[in-house]
Amino acid sequence: MKALLNLFYPDLCPACTGILSQGERFICTPCRHDLPLTGFHELQQSPIHKLLMGRVPLEQAAALFYFEKKSKVQNLIHNLKYRNQEKISGQLGKWMGEELRHSDRFNDIDGVMPVPLHRLRKHKRGYNQVDGFALEIAKALNTTVVKDVLYRKKSTSTQVFLKRESRSTSVLKSFAVRQPNTLCGKHILLVDDLITTGGTVEGCYLALKQIEGLKISVAFMAMATG
Ligand SMILES: [Zn+2]
Repeated sequence: MKALLNLFYPDLCPACTGILSQGERFICTPCRHDLPLTGFHELQQSPIHKLLMGRVPLEQAAALFYFEKKSKVQNLIHNLKYRNQEKISGQLGKWMGEELRHSDRFNDIDGVMPVPLHRLRKHKRGYNQVDGFALEIAKALNTTVVKDVLYRKKSTSTQVFLKRESRSTSVLKSFAVRQPNTLCGKHILLVDDLITTGGTVEGCYLALKQIEGLKISVAFMAMATG
C-alpha cells in the first residue's frame, strides 16, 4: 500500500526536491554527502564565538551547516519554516545530536533550551520550528528540554516595517525569564534555527544573565556566512 501511495505521492528530499529512493530516509544520499557541515563543535574558538565576542560569554558553540542563499540548506530551512515540514526539525536534531554526543565538549549540558517564539507567531505557524531540534538533541545528550524559563515578551511580527537598526534593538529587549532560580549554576544549550547577526542570542542572554552561575552553550541548524 505504501508503495502504491508513493507512486502518486512520492517522498521528496527537502533539500533538493528529488524523489527519495527506497531505503532513503529524510534526505537523499547525494544531499547527505553534499550538505556543508561546519564541524564548529570541535573547535575551542569557533566563528560563532568570534561573532558573539564581547556580547555573549559562551562555553561551547555548534552549527550543523553553513547557510548560503539559494542553497540546499536554504531549501531545508525554508521548507521547515514556511512549508509546514515540521519533521525537518527533529531530523536535523538527530543529526546534530549525534555530532554533539561524539564530541566530549557537550557532555555536561543540564538542559536544552529552544529560543521561544511569541505565542501569536507560534499559533500562526502551528509549531515552533526549533522544538523538534531541541528535543532530539536533548535525547542524544541524555538530558531534557527546558521551556518554562525563557519566554518572548512581545511579537516582532509587526516590525518588518521598522528600520533595520530599530528592529535589532527591539529583539534585544524581547525576552524575559520566569523562575530563574531553577537554573542557578546550570549549563544550558540554547538552540535556534539560524544565526546571522547573533541579535536573537544576545537578546536571550540579556534576559538569562540575571541567573546566577548560569553557563551558556549554543547550537544552530545553520550559520549564515558573509
Ligand atoms: Zn536531495
